Amino acid sequence: VDQRGRGAIEAAKRGAVGALVRSMTSAHDDFPHTGTMRYDDKVTKVPGAALSTIAADRLSQQLKQDPKLEFELEMGCQTLPDVKSYNVVGEIKGSTRPEEIITIGGHLDSWDLAQGAHDDGTGCVQSIEVLRLLKASGLRPERTIRAVLFMNEENGARGGQKYAELAKAAGEKHLAAIESDGGGFTPRGFGFEADAATIAKVQAWRPLLAPYLAGQLGPGHGGTDIEPLKDQVKALIGYDCDSQRYFDIHHTAADTFDKVNRRELELGGAAMATLVYLLSKYGL
Ligand SMILES: [Zn+2]
Repeated sequence: VDQRGRGAIEAAKRGAVGALVRSMTSAHDDFPHTGTMRYDDKVTKVPGAALSTIAADRLSQQLKQDPKLEFELEMGCQTLPDVKSYNVVGEIKGSTRPEEIITIGGHLDSWDLAQGAHDDGTGCVQSIEVLRLLKASGLRPERTIRAVLFMNEENGARGGQKYAELAKAAGEKHLAAIESDGGGFTPRGFGFEADAATIAKVQAWRPLLAPYLAGQLGPGHGGTDIEPLKDQVKALIGYDCDSQRYFDIHHTAADTFDKVNRRELELGGAAMATLVYLLSKYGL
């Protein structure tokens, strides 16, 4: 990913007129992978593009045959002006401690070439699913559970920043925030950005999460959208699932709804609901 992110900067420093990277995937197909790239004000801005793995192999082969090969690059991408957009928020008020909030979320936006089914449609659905499961089971959480579908994760995380800013300005008390943004695959567990005592407390709940295959609990990464809440919570929590197939489709036109397995998605939502319920009952 460093080649995609900084490729155009490093290439320009060496006098290149553009940068091409092989897509960050182990899949051998014709889908180029997009994603964030950066420029450095001190270095000339040159175009940067990604090639599908099949195209990259073909180019490499042709370059070996003809090192003077000419390559023509035509790109149609552009950055449009900002427009106003919104996070989408829904919550179940806590029964005994409504002022303490547990935020769960995913992000609504996706890269322009993709449906964004796994990145991050599944995270949005699982966040809503947590509220639905709690209602369907008749369990009223003690603390407030708030599902947030964040806007603009892929292009600056401004939805997450605004949410944290408004929460602070309103004097809200957040206990924890959970994000699902690694695809909707079979659960593995949860990664915690929290102190050792907090993680140890949560690890005692392992047997309750194991039935959903979500028993791996330990230090990890929360999520881009909840990161701005860091100084307002006791724990940032990232939903971890089987990541082996994620980069086959991540940030490509192949990230479509048919790639989502309903059972795997449901197990993840149930694991998140279990963790959220335990957090709402016992705190941290
Ligand atoms: Zn994402």
